[in-house]
Amino acid sequence: LVERMRPFTSTIFAEITALATRTGAINLGQGFPDTDGPAEILDAAAAAIHGGLNQYPPGPGMPVLREAIAQHQRRFYALDVDPGSEVLVTAGATEAIAATILALCEPGDEVITFDPVYDSYAASIALAGGVKRTVTLRWPDFALDEAELRAAFTARTRVVLVNTPHNPTGKVFDRAELELIGSLALEHDAVVVTDEVYEHQVYDDAVHVPVATLAGLAGQTVTVSSAGKTFSVTGWKVGWLHGPAELVAAARAVKQFLTFVSAGPLQPAVATGLGLDDGFYTGLAAGLQAKRDLLVDGLRAAGFDVSVPRGTYFVVADAAPLGFADGVELCQRLPELVGVAAVPVSVFHDDPTAASSLVRFAFCKRDEVLHDAVERLSRLSS
Ligand code: PMP
Ligand code: GLN
Repeated sequence: LVERMRPFTSTIFAEITALATRTGAINLGQGFPDTDGPAEILDAAAAAIHGGLNQYPPGPGMPVLREAIAQHQRRFYALDVDPGSEVLVTAGATEAIAATILALCEPGDEVITFDPVYDSYAASIALAGGVKRTVTLRWPDFALDEAELRAAFTARTRVVLVNTPHNPTGKVFDRAELELIGSLALEHDAVVVTDEVYEHQVYDDAVHVPVATLAGLAGQTVTVSSAGKTFSVTGWKVGWLHGPAELVAAARAVKQFLTFVSAGPLQPAVATGLGLDDGFYTGLAAGLQAKRDLLVDGLRAAGFDVSVPRGTYFVVADAAPLGFADGVELCQRLPELVGVAAVPVSVFHDDPTAASSLVRFAFCKRDEVLHDAVERLSRLSS
């Protein structure tokens, strides 16, 4: 294995899921729902398979899906996206991010990320031979530190890799924070790559602000999303990106040789999902908000300190009040202690001491599973 990929031989999600499976623990580690997505899209996928849509689709994605992505951006964000030249369908958000970084970064170019950061970002930057520059979001409110952000920009900054709503913290970046990030990117002629896979999983009075809607930024922003989160089909691996034609063409050049094209029969099904009425989208957020409340209350009752997430389906909790200073050790022992699996937050940091006692729990699970998990976690303090 080449040296630059040696830190990435396994992922925390695979490790914790294997541990949960081995011990029979409730898996609140890896983030995936335990129910299927809407029947309309499952039926549409089956119909596409039986209807013969089983050969290579067009490289940029099937027109019906690219059109639906453009419509979705118009409907929710009043963004004007040309489905012909400004959209690329990818194998999940993971490929969209990797293809964009590989397309934009020369070796030695710098990419700014907001730690704790989703694990694939560092690996994609390493694949490109890029250099990761970190801005740390700190417990408990994960606020953006302006001075730290300014200091992260250099003459080599090529990309700012934003993630809002943010995994693992559940932070929803507000307009002022995004405007600051955007203005610095414009000043340094950097591209904003924004991972918005949790765009429809936002709670309370929080509002998802797509970076591409900010003044002056549409021409310098690549927006990434995925069907996996919105339609609860993480195994489908259908994602997309959109942005100015030149940046999309660059990502497409790379995508051709990563996967060539993405799964054909799933594309019209995802298009069906994107066209579902507003009730689907509001129901998704309302349902998850209730699950968030259930888990947050349960974690507090069990003795954790909790940072209440305003987006995503993750909640970060501090185990220090329970006497656990090391989140990695706690997550290794938690399945055997009480039969629940979680993910340590420190693994998402360059500086693991930034989050030593923090752990992440996923709440995209059936209510009875969450009730069971909360009951088990209550035994930690008894
Ligand atoms: N970005 C973030 C922030 C995520 O949480 C995930 C899914 N865990 C992804 C990207 C990957 O999405 P996909 O499965 O569509 O590749
Ligand atoms: N995105 C999910 C998470 O953050 C899982 C992703 C994965 O397993 N690679 O938990």
